[in-house]
Amino acid sequence: MEKNNLVEKPKRIYGERTDFAEKVLSEELGKRYIEYRKKWVLASKREVVTDFSLYIQIEHTGKCNLRCPGCLQGNASLRQNYSRGFTPLDLKLYQKILNEAKRYHCPSISFHNNDEPLLLNDLETRIKMAKQAGFIDLIMTTNATLLTKERTEKLLESGLTKINFSVDTYNEQDYKKIRIGGDFKTVLKNIGYFMTRRKKMGLQLPVTRATCVLSKFTYKDMKEFQEFWEKRVDMVEFQNFQAIKGYTEELAPPGTKIDSNFTCLAPWQQLVIRANGDILPCCSFYAAPLVVGNISKDSLYDVWHSSKMEKIREELLKNNFSFSPICQACAGTFYTL
Ligand code: SF4
Repeated sequence: MEKNNLVEKPKRIYGERTDFAEKVLSEELGKRYIEYRKKWVLASKREVVTDFSLYIQIEHTGKCNLRCPGCLQGNASLRQNYSRGFTPLDLKLYQKILNEAKRYHCPSISFHNNDEPLLLNDLETRIKMAKQAGFIDLIMTTNATLLTKERTEKLLESGLTKINFSVDTYNEQDYKKIRIGGDFKTVLKNIGYFMTRRKKMGLQLPVTRATCVLSKFTYKDMKEFQEFWEKRVDMVEFQNFQAIKGYTEELAPPGTKIDSNFTCLAPWQQLVIRANGDILPCCSFYAAPLVVGNISKDSLYDVWHSSKMEKIREELLKNNFSFSPICQACAGTFYTL
């Protein structure tokens, strides 16, 4: 049945996450979503350590079909080290995660990290499983190259609440430099079909967002990117560039500086689980060795309250990154315009 209250005009956000999505999701999901967002704000201020992680991010494969120059997947040695020998996260382990998350009423889950979720053939089944386990906010980021009509139909029925299209540009010429292995026209067609089908089905969810990392390729064209994509999706978001130390610094926009005010919030907000079961305190691509547990033997609750997590929070609260070479590298590679 079609709804009448469709979002007719695309909205945008610009450099911040105060959010059109919040409005739609509050309307669609109600009180539990509003309560979760209040807790999220407190956690983001690092004022509370909630009883259980508010957000679980799952990297089901660790692989990507593109080879973009700003990403670890674009460098052969980084890529191989990152997910060597990985197979998709075992379904039994995934169910174990969901069971525990259900017990603690975890509100939010995503299906990507430094990988492309549509490489996973049963992604939509896994999203449905998460929905059945009680998650209310179900999120994915995709490069949209594999977003075929068939995948669109399945995703729209899966219970997904947010989908981010990591496109970075609004034209074919730049796309060829930024998204190696993709095709701009295909991406445009895929996203167009997704939006048309969502409208035809009378849905407001998933809320859609086009994202752009501000690299040397993109920083000059923010206005054009915004004008192009706000006609096509619900929201537009720009993200500051983070370099992979020793590999991608030259992609930073000219004249930009390292952000000396970087503050890390992640260990108050989330746990990340990788395809090999490793549990991490954040989604940074630096954090693959920052292992705080493994889902095959540890409970997420225990990891969340473990001495390792407490130590990380304790140091980050002092804005001391030098306690870990991983955090030090991560914190020293964010650029601001
Ligand atoms: S500073 Fe450390 S914990 Fe924070 S995002 Fe970076 S690697 Fe993760």
